[in-house]
Formats: sequence, C-alpha cells, structure tokens
Amino acid sequence: MAMKIALAGIGKIARDQHVPAIRASRDWELAATVSRHGTVEGVESFSNIAALLDARPDIETISLCLPPVPRFASAVAAIGAGRNVMLEKPPGATLTECRTLETMAREAGVSIFATWHSREAAQVAAAKAWLADRRILRLKITWKEDVRRWHPGQAWIWQPGGLGVFDPGINALSILTEILPDPIHIASATLSFPENCETPIAADLIFAHPSGAQATAEFDFRQQGEQTWTIEIETTAGSLRLLDGGAKLLIDGVIQEVPCGANGPLNGEYPRLYAKMATLAGSRGIDMDLTPMALVADAFLLGRRVVVEPFHE
Ligand code: NAP
Repeated sequence: MAMKIALAGIGKIARDQHVPAIRASRDWELAATVSRHGTVEGVESFSNIAALLDARPDIETISLCLPPVPRFASAVAAIGAGRNVMLEKPPGATLTECRTLETMAREAGVSIFATWHSREAAQVAAAKAWLADRRILRLKITWKEDVRRWHPGQAWIWQPGGLGVFDPGINALSILTEILPDPIHIASATLSFPENCETPIAADLIFAHPSGAQATAEFDFRQQGEQTWTIEIETTAGSLRLLDGGAKLLIDGVIQEVPCGANGPLNGEYPRLYAKMATLAGSRGIDMDLTPMALVADAFLLGRRVVVEPFHE
C-alpha cells in the first residue's frame, strides 16, 4: 500500500518535479500540502506545518521544498511530531543546522534524507564506475546558467543563506563528490557579489586533490544563450565529459548509451529520490551526506570577495 506524504513549500521545484514524481510513484500518495500561497489541485492544503501535523497524524513523511533558510523550522516541527523528513538541496542553511536535524531524527527514531537530485542524473553512476580505478590529471567544472531564466522572482537566492550561484553550483559539487574516488577540498575561491546582493553571482574555485590533479570550477549566473552544466576530467587512461548536469556522458569523445529507462517518467532524478526515500522510511534509515555543503561553506570561509555590478531582475 502507498505511504502518505505531505509536500511543504509549493513553489517551482515542488510543481515541476515533486508533484509529478510522487504521482507517478507506487510507493507514495500525495496526501496534503503546506504552503502560504500554493496548492495542488485535489489535495488537502494547509497554510502552516503546525496545522498539518495536528490535523493529519496519518501522514508519516513530510517532503520539504522550501528555500533553505525557512526549511529548518519546518523540519524541526516535523521530526518533533515523529514524522520522517525529506530535504530538498541544500539540506539546510548551515552545517550545524543539518547536523542538529540528523541528531533529532536519530533520537526520534525517524528517517531523514538530505537529497541531492543531480546525483540521480542518468549518467552519474556510469561516470563513477569509469573513474573508480583511474588516476586523475585534470578536472574542470563549468556551471553557467541564466538566473533570470531558471530562478524568476526568487528573491531568497540573493538573501543571506540563499547561496546565490552556489544554489546550482552545489549540484555540480554533489556530482563531483559522488563520482571522484578520492576526497577533494577547496584550496582557494573568488566570489563575485553584486553590490546590491548578499550572495555571489559568480564563483571561481580551485580545489586541492590528494594526488595533485589540477582541479577547478567556474560557476556563473550571468550566462546568456547556451547553458552549460559540464564536468570534464582527464585521467592517465582516457578522458570523461559529463554534460547537461549529468544526463550525458562522453568517454574519449564517444557518447555513451544512457541506461535503459534512466530518463523515463518513472525513473528520472526525482522518481529515484522518492524510491530511495521509500526504502529509508521503511527501515527508519538516515541518509545525510553533507559533503557538497561543506565544500560550499569552505568556499564562503576562504573566498576572496569581489564586488561587481548590481543585479536587477
Ligand atoms: P520557490 O519557487 O521560491 O518556492 C519555494 C516555496 O517555499 C515558495 O513557493 C513558498 O511558498 C515557500 N516558502 C516558505 N517560506 C518561504 C520564504 N521565507 N521565502 C520564500 N519562499 C518560502 O523555490 P524553488 O525553486 O522551488 O526552490 C526550493 C528549494 O528547492 C531550494 O532549496 C532549491 O535549491 C531547491 N531546488 C530548486 C530547483 C529549481 O530548479 N528551482 C531545482 C532543484 C532544487 P508559499 O509562499 O506558498 O509558502
């Protein structure tokens, strides 16, 4: 029988991905929503999480799609009421917040899942397998998109805790930390802040790699025209290019076949996340990998700040 789930924060990603993934899943039934303005047709709606938790003790799992800063209070309330929690990326506004949620979930005996949707992209597992026994010489991430196109009206991205260009950039870091056989950390960073914003619009990162590979990332929210979400890796035994946020893979310039059904309606990034959440919920499991977020936090700790022209949507 399908488990009941509630979706909180009915904005862009909830509508684009969560609602279709839950509706296509045999594991889940969308039983309620929580949002001040948003609703989903045919689904009971609440304007705050306390009202939902009070009225619907039958809903055991809450999927939180709010922006990172307001998400913590909802997560605390849900765990405090004994519910399983699924967190959109990034799992919180700070690392300590995320660790607090994990501790609370362990003590309450409920599941918590820090999701990284880009890790579920069609070719990430194949890239990881190919890299497993190779020595990396060079690595370059290019993550450039037009913020006006992908994040219209999302003022929170420019406010403290909104991450700015690291909101998409953390997706690249989530893939990188999944596919690399070795740990990597930030050696230096340059962060470009529009003079009227609290978060960066662009970032250049240099990583330290344990065997001295040259490793860099370029994130930019000002990209017009073609959008780029690419990871290129050169090894002593061939090269890899992961394109379109992990959806396409080239090995030595040859496009690799996508695993059967990996982009289908029942098996894309979000359906795979919800399938994992079903397994976790069934076993009171905890999955809280904070590695991508630690890299972002380190970039903010180490980053040299440059002020650039103001951003107006
Ligand atoms: P969004 O369109 O701004 O939606 C977030 C929703 O959260 C809002 O519609 C709002 O609904 C609710 N909310 C509650 N408190 C809020 C507050 N203080 N400020 C703003 N909204 C508040 O954002 P989104 O793009 O869906 O992103 C949400 C999360 O998903 C972020 O962590 C983001 O990184 C992640 N994500 C987004 C994408 C994407 O392509 N957009 C992709 C993957 C992951 P009410 O006003 O009705 O309460």
